[in-house]
Amino acid sequence: MAKLKHVLCIPFPAQGHVSPLLKLSHCIIANHGIKVTVVNTELNFIAFPDGVETDEERKDWVKLLESISRVMPGHLQELIEKVKQQSKGNKDEQISFVMVDLIAGWALEVAERMGIALKSDVIPISKDLPSYKSDDLTWSFPEDLTVQKVFFKWMLAIVHNSTHSTSYLCNSFHELEASACGITPGVLPVGPLLASTRLLHHRGSLWNEDSTCSNWLDQHPPQSVIYVAFGSTTIFSPEQFYELAHGLEQIGQPFLWVVRPDMTDAPVNKFHGTFLQRVKNHGKVVQWAPQEEVLAHPSVACFFTHCGWNSTLEGLSNGVPLLCRPYFADQRLNRSFICDVWRVGLGVDGDENGAITRHEVRTKILAVLGSDEIKTNCQRMKEKTRKSVSEGGSSLKNLESFIELIKA
Ligand code: UDP
Repeated sequence: MAKLKHVLCIPFPAQGHVSPLLKLSHCIIANHGIKVTVVNTELNFIAFPDGVETDEERKDWVKLLESISRVMPGHLQELIEKVKQQSKGNKDEQISFVMVDLIAGWALEVAERMGIALKSDVIPISKDLPSYKSDDLTWSFPEDLTVQKVFFKWMLAIVHNSTHSTSYLCNSFHELEASACGITPGVLPVGPLLASTRLLHHRGSLWNEDSTCSNWLDQHPPQSVIYVAFGSTTIFSPEQFYELAHGLEQIGQPFLWVVRPDMTDAPVNKFHGTFLQRVKNHGKVVQWAPQEEVLAHPSVACFFTHCGWNSTLEGLSNGVPLLCRPYFADQRLNRSFICDVWRVGLGVDGDENGAITRHEVRTKILAVLGSDEIKTNCQRMKEKTRKSVSEGGSSLKNLESFIELIKA
């Protein structure tokens, strides 16, 4: 019988990184004679500590990133050592590959030192990508220059660490970013990694999804609901939060809005009391939605998003027009693709100070809903996306060849 291969998979400990890597792991283990162990921080799974003491500190990017790179490599080395010792005499248990989220690039160097072949995923950036302003750079965080410095150091380490890799998986598909894929040797686009594509039951959500969303959506006509969600880390100042709320209220059309408890410092409970009373006939606010399910629902008309890469792919694969309000990291570049290259959405750019106004929220949502060009492009994009992960599609073929590589 063929030897079982054991792959160690290491996502960066954040919602938008854990969930695609879990989906990828699921695709790899399905009937392929491959065992995958997913390693993450204690906060998320059976795992090792990230070195941060409290949840409050964990929201501080400077503390979190510094602590992860200081504490986690040692734990990973111990884990690999432990598995090596325990699996003596049992070849099936020995780790043959490490599959690393490149933003958790610190793990690559440890894995190479321990003599293990490497896999990783990366979103490539090249001269063929749409031009972007210096604020669009992945590490840019003009709101806080100390955070920006830490991001820059982290990204630099990613570039350095990527030289330890043998191949690069990315959560994209060839037809979506053909020019970037073409000039990046060894890149294997295997996305979009969606729970629905391969009928996975694990969406990889780190929080409880509000199960009342589907019923609520069922009660609305096709293409009538504005879905509003800004991922797992976006923060709104109280003023921006109120402008958004008033903008949504003024449209008078049904909306489903995800307001995480840590999304703003505004006194949300007090605000919700009167706001929810006013919008009770057409608005619903939840703390965390089953987003993939929501976006696949026929009553959703558009998606007001922060352009996180997972949210972007989920919107594209469901043919939902997008309204973009990026926050940081790759989100600004994703917005350029959405609005300027694929033309499947519009940006909410803010006033002269970059601040959202209720007026812009209202006018841009109405513009997206009224654009036939955007609707047509969305439908085309949906078909392309689905094709890439179907039988004979580019991403499915790449995934199959990756699995062969592990098994060889
Ligand atoms: N998500 C969800 N429910 C929500 C909001 C987001 O399940 O209410 C999921 C969403 O489907 C996506 C992920 O959380 O898969 C967010 O990842 P993304 O890359 O879009 O943004 P990030 O959180 O990394 O900023």
